[in-house]
Amino acid sequence: MTDCARPFSIEIIRARSANRRVRAALFDFDGTLSLIREGWQNVMIPYFCEVLSEVVDPTVETPEDVERITRDYVDRITGKQTIYQCIRLAEEIKRRGGTPLDPLLYKKEYLRRLQERIQSRVDLLASGKAAPDDFVVRGGRRFLQLLRDHEVKLYLASGTDEYYVKQEVELLELTEFFDGVVYGAQDDYKTFSKAMVIDRLVKINNLEGAELVGFGDGYVEIENVRDVGGYPVGVATNEANPGGGVDAWKRRRLLDAGAAAIVPDFSEPQKLFDFVVNS
Ligand SMILES: [Mg+2]
Repeated sequence: MTDCARPFSIEIIRARSANRRVRAALFDFDGTLSLIREGWQNVMIPYFCEVLSEVVDPTVETPEDVERITRDYVDRITGKQTIYQCIRLAEEIKRRGGTPLDPLLYKKEYLRRLQERIQSRVDLLASGKAAPDDFVVRGGRRFLQLLRDHEVKLYLASGTDEYYVKQEVELLELTEFFDGVVYGAQDDYKTFSKAMVIDRLVKINNLEGAELVGFGDGYVEIENVRDVGGYPVGVATNEANPGGGVDAWKRRRLLDAGAAAIVPDFSEPQKLFDFVVNS
């Protein structure tokens, strides 16, 4: 079988209640709209395993155990700010009798390694050798356009540092859709969370939860949107193989988090728009 594109489909777990108009939509960035940071897990997980292995007693835990534990918590925290994954690493080290560094140092080293992986993509975009849509999840731009044309207010919230998020939104030429409202992680990490962003946008726009829809490929945004009574759509993007259908592993996780529907991407923007907004 060739790996040609699979047809777009919407897996519906719960339909959206149609008695409220959609007035606002919240998007996650990495893996949901942007492919610039594709593969970040393959940087974080080996690095964290490397650090944790230094304090592991090999008669108690095998390298496979270390990898499984690391993968589990990294995944569970995905969507929150990166520092929380680093804080958890420090806790795992402490639990095994080690003395961890300041979690901020783990974050710095992780970002240094990740930057090595993604710099070539940033350079391609910045020099114009790649088109923005080469790194936008399929159909994403058109879908945002449809929402905006129907006066749905668009918000973007990411667990990546705000400085990088804004720069990458700009490189992908998506800034205009969000009216400048792009939220990312802060140095003072307690001042930001996706739940806080949702609270704020609900208050500012005087929204009912049911007037909010959310799109994300991670646990956190799905849970947060669900918690306020919004409609959370899991975007199970196949980042390494765009067009290859849903990523089965992401799909499972998104369902566990309470996603009301699952899509592989936005590659049929009108169909998705009709489902979410017009149904
Ligand atoms: Mg994401």
